[in-house]
Amino acid sequence: MVKAYLISTGTELLLGTTLDTNSVFLSRKLAEIGVKVIGKSVVGDNPDSIATAIRTGLASADLVITTGGLGPTRDDLTKEIACEVAGAEMKLIKEEEERLRDYFRRRHRPMPEINLKQAMFPEQATVIPNSLGTAPGMFLPLDNNQVIICLPGPPREAEPMYENYVKDLLIKTYQLTDSPSASRIIRIFGPGESQVEEMLQEIMDKARNYNLALLASEGEIIVRVTAEGQNQNESLDILSKVTEQINQIMGKSVFGYDDDTLSSVVAKLLCNRGRSVSVAESCTGGLLGKMLTDIPGSSRYFWGGVLTYSNEAKQKLLGVKEETLQKYGAVSRETALEMAWGVKRLSGTDLGVSITGIAGPEGGSKEKPVGLVYMAVVGDNLEQVREMHFVGNRAAIRTLSAKSALDLLRLQLL
Ligand code: AMP
Ligand code: MG
Repeated sequence: MVKAYLISTGTELLLGTTLDTNSVFLSRKLAEIGVKVIGKSVVGDNPDSIATAIRTGLASADLVITTGGLGPTRDDLTKEIACEVAGAEMKLIKEEEERLRDYFRRRHRPMPEINLKQAMFPEQATVIPNSLGTAPGMFLPLDNNQVIICLPGPPREAEPMYENYVKDLLIKTYQLTDSPSASRIIRIFGPGESQVEEMLQEIMDKARNYNLALLASEGEIIVRVTAEGQNQNESLDILSKVTEQINQIMGKSVFGYDDDTLSSVVAKLLCNRGRSVSVAESCTGGLLGKMLTDIPGSSRYFWGGVLTYSNEAKQKLLGVKEETLQKYGAVSRETALEMAWGVKRLSGTDLGVSITGIAGPEGGSKEKPVGLVYMAVVGDNLEQVREMHFVGNRAAIRTLSAKSALDLLRLQLL
């Protein structure tokens, strides 16, 4: 089995101001291609510590992957040190220099000469392109079938570089085969973790050539199914059977798979059904609109929304009646419905969605405690209100409210 050692560099990781997510990402991804991570270190921007960590890695692993320290400044030293440890000499690579100059030209900025070090690599190295930043990565093969890989620190750069280049390079270098197991994430919204566990108990008990893992996150329950067949085909077969059984039991609360999100699923449904939507938000302060517009192309179905935080805004912008607010309060079934009808009328969309609630920490009462949230979806022949009692801090209540409203909308579109 190919063994890997991971090194995360950066003083910010030691100070605790940045969480080392790169090694977590890489550990997970390497497992998928059968590479075993045997250890990892976190070191500051200190040449000696970086060199020691690389030597430690090379002493017992086939493969050392570093992240961080590929920037242009003086404390960015990882690539230089890796080359020094490997005894590989760097020189200026013409195409890389051109690429860098072009990067700055396109941004109408002069290129500081210190950036040139980002175009220096040993001859035997493969340069790993970075489409999101100036720092390319490096894949440096050593004599004894060992490899040092250097990736930049920002996860949004390092992660796609792994996916798009490093993975294939590793598969080729070590003749890895994708493991025979297959896995899938099933995403559930509505029931709680223990309830899902109870409902899936039988499937879990019966598990022989597959296993289920449950995880709760921001109101979603994530079920990871891993099938262990003799080969990929058999695993995929097991996977679809188990998925089918879970769908049978969980019904409509299964909203998607793998990388699906509530927003992406709602987006697909709105597109397929050719329906448009507008939103009226109170306690979520625009979060629902944000989630809907997280999806590229959302202008096809999302009109926009109004953020009516005060009673006055609810009345003036949405036509919520004074009497309704007096009699039932701003956080009520009745107000939620008038908000949803109000924004539908204003926008002319097929559907109107609203949220009104108490996000806390203040503002709760005995009858209306913090966490009480009403959401409504209205349209022709459609009027649905949901009352929820969320528990958590302000941020959690707002996130859960917006997600729950998306879920209510999803159920109406099914
Ligand atoms: P660097 O390439 O070392 O200059 O890192 C640039 C930025 O990437 C840092 O300031 C962090 O925000 C982020 N970063 C670096 N290393 C990690 C890591 N191991 N996990 C998550 N983020 C990181
Ligand atoms: Mg750094």
